[in-house]
Amino acid sequence: PANIAPLDVKAQFPGIPEGWHYLDSAATAQKPQAVIDAITNAYAHDYATVHRGVYERSAAMTRSYEAARAAVAGLVGGDPEGLVFTRGATEAINLVAASWGEANLNEGDRILLSRLEHHSNIVPWQMLAERTGAVIDVCPITADGRIDLSALEEMLSEHHKLVALSHVSNVFGSTLDVRAAADMAHKVGAKILIDGCQAVPRLDVDVAALGVDFYAFSAHKCYGPTGVGALWAQPGLLDHMPPYQGGGAMIDRVSLEDGTTYAPAPARFEAGTPHIVGAVGFHAAADWLSSLGREAIHNHELGLVAFAREELSKIDGLTLYGPDDSAGIVSFNMDGVHGHDVATILDDAGVAVRAGHHCAQPLMDYLGVSATVRASFAAHSDPSDVSALVEGIYKVKRIFG
Ligand code: PMP
Repeated sequence: PANIAPLDVKAQFPGIPEGWHYLDSAATAQKPQAVIDAITNAYAHDYATVHRGVYERSAAMTRSYEAARAAVAGLVGGDPEGLVFTRGATEAINLVAASWGEANLNEGDRILLSRLEHHSNIVPWQMLAERTGAVIDVCPITADGRIDLSALEEMLSEHHKLVALSHVSNVFGSTLDVRAAADMAHKVGAKILIDGCQAVPRLDVDVAALGVDFYAFSAHKCYGPTGVGALWAQPGLLDHMPPYQGGGAMIDRVSLEDGTTYAPAPARFEAGTPHIVGAVGFHAAADWLSSLGREAIHNHELGLVAFAREELSKIDGLTLYGPDDSAGIVSFNMDGVHGHDVATILDDAGVAVRAGHHCAQPLMDYLGVSATVRASFAAHSDPSDVSALVEGIYKVKRIFG
């Protein structure tokens, strides 16, 4: 299709052999050679601990780790002082819930989420609510799968201390107008946390322009390694948050007699030896994303989504979810066929899709289904991936009559 801008980067992905159609990038992205090389080099040639060694190798590794912090903060337009490396978006959200949440929430305070959140932006708040007596409200979604901002505005009250929403839904690919949501939250004095897992790989996120207080994301969805992610917080917020985990590297002074004082943020939130090489790989992924340009990736994926939705909508008994301008994600179901059967037949045809609840069971309940089939695109996806998906679906139709 003419409207799909070619990015032509598939050859940079050794994990995608000829003839295999990887359509599960929303779960985790395949890695370009540049990221694999950066990780290999860091272990093979540059490896040492950070922050503690006085020898040159360790000092150099520390510089690399801090350069990674700056690059990863740059991915969301933030300053490095506000960037905490975590194990992933899940840990970033748990950090805010445990630290900021316990320090700031009391019985009767309210937290506002949406119905389309990933479990990692639900369960930490439920656990916090149990500990503090806070109450959770759930913002509805529109028919085309967006967080309903007018409902959000109506629901918000001065009792709300936190609004926690996804930037891009991992089931529908619908994109939130984060600036509008942030303005609404701030109007009632609430903070806003954005789960940016699905946004950072494809949108030019700018935390200052969006006006958010907390922004959480994972490296592995951004073509980087697993086991590392980030929390970015507005300047000043981290300084007033108590430590999340205790251990080495997060302290100022430890005394068995006088107790412990803590390092300033972000070190205060990075207890223990961090995922040093993970940060280096995250840096390489940030560079790779920036060199390609996220606007180009997003436009490319919009073209693939339009092509896929057009072809899939021609198929009898197939229900498409989400909006037409989905950011790289197409969710659907077929009448009378379980998603797992669809995915198994697609796998036989060399097409890897996800079928299941996508860690969004409240959204599945709302849709009245136990699962959807989800095809998700990335920079390396191309029209042949869509064609293979569509052909595979016709095969499912033939098998199930
Ligand atoms: N939020 C969203 C929207 C996601 O897609 C994911 C990953 N599936 C997460 C949170 C959790 O991210 P991670 O597993 O990398 O911590």
